[in-house]
Amino acid sequence: MADVFLAIAEHEEGKIRRASLEALALARRLAAERGGRAAAAVLAAEPAPLAEELARRGADEVFALAGTALEPYTPDAYRLALAPLIRELSPEWVLMAHTYLAQDMLPTLAAGFGAPVISDCVDCETDADPVVFVRTPYDAKFVARTVDRGPAPRFATLQSGAFSADDLPDDHSGTVTRRDVAVDEGALRRRVIEVREAGGRGVDLSSAEIIVAGGRGLGSKENFDKLVGGLAKALGAAIGASRPVVDSEWLPHEHQIGSSGQIVSPRLYVALGISGAIQHMVGMRGSQVIVSINKDKDAPIFNESTYGIVGDVTEVVPELIKAVEEARSQ
Ligand SMILES: Cc1cc2nc3c(=O)[nH]c(=O)nc-3n(C[C@H](O)[C@H](O)[C@H](O)COP(=O)(O)OP(=O)(O)OC[C@H]3O[C@@H](n4cnc5c(N)ncnc54)[C@H](O)[C@@H]3O)c2cc1C
Repeated sequence: MADVFLAIAEHEEGKIRRASLEALALARRLAAERGGRAAAAVLAAEPAPLAEELARRGADEVFALAGTALEPYTPDAYRLALAPLIRELSPEWVLMAHTYLAQDMLPTLAAGFGAPVISDCVDCETDADPVVFVRTPYDAKFVARTVDRGPAPRFATLQSGAFSADDLPDDHSGTVTRRDVAVDEGALRRRVIEVREAGGRGVDLSSAEIIVAGGRGLGSKENFDKLVGGLAKALGAAIGASRPVVDSEWLPHEHQIGSSGQIVSPRLYVALGISGAIQHMVGMRGSQVIVSINKDKDAPIFNESTYGIVGDVTEVVPELIKAVEEARSQ
């Protein structure tokens, strides 16, 4: 039987999460380069449309695990639903985005197979034997090239934005196999009693397409709201921040980007008055285009920026807002 590379997909509001499509992209790359097939699994009460999306986006074979116990998510239900599938397929690699869900569930699932999880990988040497996964632990102070010398199944999670899903097809015709999963309620140690929005300002920055982020260089909450808020509104962007902004209580912690905040990978990241400390960079360097505005021409953030503007945010940003508004009104 051909080798299987299995991506476990997460979904949100009826769509596969972008980071899970990135896991599928790596499964496809491994299958193409090492020989085998790219499979995907999705779990939901009614997974059919999600499974079809995965089959269209490049999975050769999709397993649609269906069951009312699978929504809302609990680690026990996911583990009990996935373990038999993984036992049956014995995938060379089981891949997931490095999300809260994966961190919650995958280690227990892997431990059931006596396997470790290589977590938060930023690169994969697909042609090495065995396959090497690259991690950057301790706020990217080290590069750890990691292999799993154990037998299949092996497990890895991927940092959001590290693997591009841009080249996935939209017209693939993978097969979909539905499996009804009956989970014994008594086996679920954790129950979700209620799901509440995390306040009106809650944002999931990890799936934002455009982020405008501000740092200490904004100088005050008033400037932050006016300049970061103004540019974000003009661009239709989500708002992010460096840690000093959160520490100063200009914004709640959920907006913090970096090693102790969120990891983001938007198409466009605009950094205003942010110096580019490593703890911030590890959270946003997966962005496709980085535009930075800083008055210090030697600020480290310019080393990783696609475009850099040396200037004072209080002068440059109002002009930028005006230009974006004009361009959008045409
Ligand atoms: C364990 C640990 C975890 C951490 N986690 C995080 C994290 O998750 N996220 C995070 O962001 N940080 C984190 N930090 C903090 C990090 O080390 C930096 O201190 C922080 O990122 C700096 O934020 P900043 O760039 O906004 O501020 P600064 O480093 O002070 O930079 C401000 C920048 O603004 C520029 N500037 C000033 N005035 C203007 C102006 N008028 N116009 C234009 N530019 C101007 C300056 O030239 C400077 O480059 C962590 C630190 C530790 C020790």
